[in-house]
Amino acid sequence: ASVPGARVTVVGGARSGQAAARLLARRGATVFLTDAGPDAGGVAETLKRGGVESEFGGHSARALDADWLVVSPGVPTTSKLVQSALRQKRPVFSEIEVASWFCDGPIIAVTGSNGKTTTTTLIAHVLRTAGRKHVVAGNIGLAFADYVDDVDAETAVVLEVSSFQLDHVATFRPHVAVLLNVTPDHLDRYGGDLASYAAAKFRLFDNLTAADWLVYNADDALVRERALSVAAARGLTPYAVAIDDAAPPEPATPPTGEGGAATPPNAALAGGVERGAFARGGEVVLALPPPGSGPDSPPTVIHDDPLMPTSDLALRGRHNLYNSLASAVVARAMEIRSDVVRESLTSFEGVPHRLETVRTVDGVRFVNDSKATNVNAVWYALESVPAHDDGSPSVVLVAGGRDKGNDYEPLERLVAEKVKGIVAIGEGAEAVERELGPHTALVARAASMEEAIGAARRLAAPGDTVLLSPACASFDMFEDYEDRGDTFKRLVRAL
Ligand code: ADP
Repeated sequence: ASVPGARVTVVGGARSGQAAARLLARRGATVFLTDAGPDAGGVAETLKRGGVESEFGGHSARALDADWLVVSPGVPTTSKLVQSALRQKRPVFSEIEVASWFCDGPIIAVTGSNGKTTTTTLIAHVLRTAGRKHVVAGNIGLAFADYVDDVDAETAVVLEVSSFQLDHVATFRPHVAVLLNVTPDHLDRYGGDLASYAAAKFRLFDNLTAADWLVYNADDALVRERALSVAAARGLTPYAVAIDDAAPPEPATPPTGEGGAATPPNAALAGGVERGAFARGGEVVLALPPPGSGPDSPPTVIHDDPLMPTSDLALRGRHNLYNSLASAVVARAMEIRSDVVRESLTSFEGVPHRLETVRTVDGVRFVNDSKATNVNAVWYALESVPAHDDGSPSVVLVAGGRDKGNDYEPLERLVAEKVKGIVAIGEGAEAVERELGPHTALVARAASMEEAIGAARRLAAPGDTVLLSPACASFDMFEDYEDRGDTFKRLVRAL
């Protein structure tokens, strides 16, 4: 779409909608912003100063009087206005699509159901350690459209991308595209349909060429299948990340998108056919082209190159292994030296609210995993905590909140193995009790976080871990997951 002189409607007046509106106005479009909700406070006025007209509290007829539209990630595709625009064949774009039109630097885009923020932050840490110019933006909280004017050809953009932002991409083309996993989440916005949610995630690959890097989790059957078919169709080299367990511990495989079916071991890696980063025999092993040779270089012999012992990685837990491996591939794509990668993967301090150890009180470790807002994230959290040496369960799990239609079944086995007790909270408490209660010895219900921590302390013994990993959204009791995690941390620190 051409921008100067275009009449554009931006739907949704939160952070990225505002940013897109301002950017387009700066670039000479006539921009109208419309939001069904109230003005959160002075937004209309601020927009006006940036040359953007707006309306709040509903969509008037003017909203559809546009050459094309930009839809904020917070506005579902099923919204009436978006549906009308699509029916009228008016092009609809997402904010990252629009911002990418003006981006001079390489984009490293990270998506997946879980691990986006962790991996985005880790990649930024690697770039920072390497002394490379970069900006971090996207779903992580900073709108790409607000930063794109600062991006020159030497600046890398590390972009956390949600499925909602991928709903309306057209030409968006990252130089490095990372797909971590696809497991059920946000199905409420995709008509309960995993396939259409997955399709949105796969749109990350839509415009890749042979000069780009496609990085995918080869242990996720759904992701692997799609990545390999995209690669074959476009003639590009896919880069895998995978954990090659000689003897996988039980239960070895996370619930995948396909009704919780186990992912088969990554057989196609045998013979070193596949390139990528692998955890193998306690080592991070890179099978990548040497720096500078480019992804479409002739197939030189790729040596399996040990980078570092997995025990040196700063991020713990099996899920984080994928995040670290993906970051190692991205680092090579950005031609960063291995010693810098080693150093940064060792020194990364992690992201708050993701398996964050708060403190140990009377021998009980308290872990804040408030960001675990879906079942898959809880699976990995439980997986990362070892049972006691005698095999007895070691975790008191605090779970519940606003349930997004969770299927708890994939957790049953891990709960039986690792969880000695559950404290159920929030709107989803009853479902948690009903679905997971039968698989653990002790169940309690709490009406507040303070009560939950009190109950968890009573259930826990020295050596145990109290894990806040709710599997649900936080909005029933808290502002957001950060508020929930901060409340937990504050109360735990006060014990
Ligand atoms: P996102 O930004 O995709 O929501 P985060 O990095 O914020 O991901 O992590 C969300 C939750 O998922 C946390 O509970 C975290 O421990 C867990 N997690 C992180 N990485 C992964 C992964 N690769 N696979 C599954 N779960 C993960």
